[in-house]
Amino acid sequence: VPRDPAPEGSAPGDRAPEGRPGVADELAELDKRAIIHPHTTIGAPDEPVIFDRGEGAVLWDVRGESYLDGTCGLWQCPVGHGRPELAEAAAEQIRRLEFYSSFGDYSNEPSIRLAERLLRLAPPGLEKVFFTNGGSEGNETAIKLARLAHHHAGHPERTVILARTGGYHGMAGGSLAATGIDRLREGFGPLLPDVEFLGKPHALHHDTDALVAELEQRIAELGADRIAAFIGEPVLGVGGMVPPPPDYWPRVQEVLRRNDILLVLDEIVTAFGRVGHWFAAEHYGIEPDMVVTAKGLTSGYIPMGAVLVGRRVLDLVDGAWFPHGFTYNGHPVGAAVALANLDILEREDLPRRAKAVGARIMDGLAPLAELDHVREVRGVGLMLGIELDRDAAGVQSGARADGLIVRAAGNNIVISPPLVITDEQADTLVRLVCKHVAAVGN
Ligand code: PLP
Repeated sequence: VPRDPAPEGSAPGDRAPEGRPGVADELAELDKRAIIHPHTTIGAPDEPVIFDRGEGAVLWDVRGESYLDGTCGLWQCPVGHGRPELAEAAAEQIRRLEFYSSFGDYSNEPSIRLAERLLRLAPPGLEKVFFTNGGSEGNETAIKLARLAHHHAGHPERTVILARTGGYHGMAGGSLAATGIDRLREGFGPLLPDVEFLGKPHALHHDTDALVAELEQRIAELGADRIAAFIGEPVLGVGGMVPPPPDYWPRVQEVLRRNDILLVLDEIVTAFGRVGHWFAAEHYGIEPDMVVTAKGLTSGYIPMGAVLVGRRVLDLVDGAWFPHGFTYNGHPVGAAVALANLDILEREDLPRRAKAVGARIMDGLAPLAELDHVREVRGVGLMLGIELDRDAAGVQSGARADGLIVRAAGNNIVISPPLVITDEQADTLVRLVCKHVAAVGN
């Protein structure tokens, strides 16, 4: 099917890589035979799109087709694809010291420098860093640490974790237990106990008064003295790109503080510029007790995450032993890449760029709200979503046939390109999204 013209700026002249049609069919066949892809059917795999190269907001597959990356993969790539300095940072560190464990009293220079730098960038009150390999592990860490902190403070009965319907915190034991999306939880038997769900914080359906009243009522029902922490994403990501009402977070924080409940902010998607600030906590004016990051920390060039831990948690733990860790925590190669990635984010002022280009895309998409089958067009920075009154899968497949990657999450369309997307590419994204949203209305 001929594409409706290839995304502008997606085939930058002579730098457009050639396809490798000779291997494309063989790889597709092998992939289907050998790989169980995350979040897909095990028995009957789809035809894979096999990516081969990337540059900025553009990817090419092995057949040589170009794609404008309208979701930044899984939000992991704020600095865009194909940055040579990140490859160099990794190679240099591997040549010097590829890895040694950070357990106990062993350490390495890149992770020390990264921890110090993260704490300088982070919202006030965060004082220490626990490194991880990714987001789920970060949330496992935060949940365990919240419970352990209360345990050591003489309140072992404070085990309940408050989470929200529509929230996504990962696929491991505790992080899945705190994920409020039923289809992801079914079939696995009992999950981590003592996780309680509140309603989805969606400004379209609830105002802050109602959401805060619900929180207060649940705390009263459960008993504050049983609750360890509240975990939430500043803006729901997998749950449909849903920002809460603007005053939601400060008011939630006030209720939690009053009840000695720790606030764990899952900034795995939002940290490192996506909402126009280094951290969404700044955007919403809050000071969480723990901030969990991953993805944008290394722009996904290598897996790494970091849990930033605040003073209140440290005071509760009071120097106790933390029996927790994964082999590759504090990986020097990940930390070296993260440092180089932060250099790019700073040098190119990408948080500010996210705000500007996010506003441009939002302006372009706003007229869609007039269509009968569109319920809402919404977003903060470069976290944008469109909610339909029907399944959005047709928008995802139609856009992809035109060379644009956006993701359908139920009735929602997820739009979150790399922060380096150019204005021309942003305009192409808008044009193609508008075309395919309109098409599914017929
Ligand atoms: N938390 C949020 C908000 C996420 O979006 C994700 C992944 O998309 C995770 C946690 C899980 O991170 P990971 O897939 O790196 O384990």
